[in-house]
Amino acid sequence: MINVTKSFIPSMEEFTSYLQPAFTQHWLTNRGDLTIQLENKLKSYLQVSNITLTANGTLPIQIAIKALKLKGEIITTPFSFVATTTTILWENCTPVFVDIEEDYLTIDPKKIEQAITDKTSAILATHIFGNPCDIDAIQEIADKYNLKVIYDGAHAFGVKYKGKSIFEYGDVSTCSFHATKLMHTGEGGAFFSKDFYLQKSMYFHHNFGHNGPYNFNGIGINAKMSELHAAMGLAVFDHLESIISKRKSAVALYIEKLNKSTLSLLKIRPETQWNYHYFPILFPSEKDLLIAVKKLKNNYIYPRRYFYPSLNTLPYLNYQKMEISEDISSRILCLPLSSEISEQEINQICNLII
Ligand SMILES: *Cc1c(COP(=O)(O)O)cnc(C)c1O
Repeated sequence: MINVTKSFIPSMEEFTSYLQPAFTQHWLTNRGDLTIQLENKLKSYLQVSNITLTANGTLPIQIAIKALKLKGEIITTPFSFVATTTTILWENCTPVFVDIEEDYLTIDPKKIEQAITDKTSAILATHIFGNPCDIDAIQEIADKYNLKVIYDGAHAFGVKYKGKSIFEYGDVSTCSFHATKLMHTGEGGAFFSKDFYLQKSMYFHHNFGHNGPYNFNGIGINAKMSELHAAMGLAVFDHLESIISKRKSAVALYIEKLNKSTLSLLKIRPETQWNYHYFPILFPSEKDLLIAVKKLKNNYIYPRRYFYPSLNTLPYLNYQKMEISEDISSRILCLPLSSEISEQEINQICNLII
């Protein structure tokens, strides 16, 4: 069986050696040594101004919306994982979709202005598949209309854009360390802001509002990472270079095999140092996609339709037509990609598809 992804698993010895201090000290959560250690390692690896680890990659988006005090309408992308939309709804705001760029699959800044109303408070966009949004154009619009910018960077771990960490852009960026993601802690995530005071405000929100044991700085939620998850993160972190380089080779092989086919491959925005997180392919039609999925399934190969359906078609929303996103969603497929996938498996997958 080959799944769309296979979590990197460190050896049990590596995991338990990181976990040992938590057991010895009887300290399992509440930002213990392991969480702080992982935070410091990631901060210097990513070269970001600030980072706070969280229990998953969804809560930090909600916390960003809360800390920025967003109200009314939030402009967002219809082509993403469902959490990008549901976090907006969960925080009692209204998602307003803007269609994506056909080339890069990120929100199309040329279409943002016409969606702005006097109720718009922010733009929440996703660096889909680790491909950066058109950051400069988005920031220009945000500055002109005084909007906040949040980036869902769940796929963007380690990506650099114009020589800087992708997480340094916008007001807030978030990441996910879910088991299916490139860097993982089992379940986990993070939020990042260049603005120290905003980071501090989100930090209070992620821990009940606690400012010391008996003082509270506003309302909060429990979004803390546990020491058990941090131990997994530390053990995975030691293998990051090799994880990324193995994915890079796998992607190169996929491209070599599929270049001559009628399929289109993901185009990465210029000036990007990409992370090889996903390998999406675009079929000429949904019918072709479904034939390929069936064929692969018969061979115990399970790709995923990331991302289908287009989020503007969610049953609990008022439908807003998004031509490009709906079209792309109907015929895009993510092929199995992980640090574990073999040359032979990639050959088999490509031969079946071709
Ligand atoms: C995975 C993912 C999330 C949510 O992350 P969790 O850690 O699973 O909560 C949010 N946005 C996108 C685009 C994702 O792929």
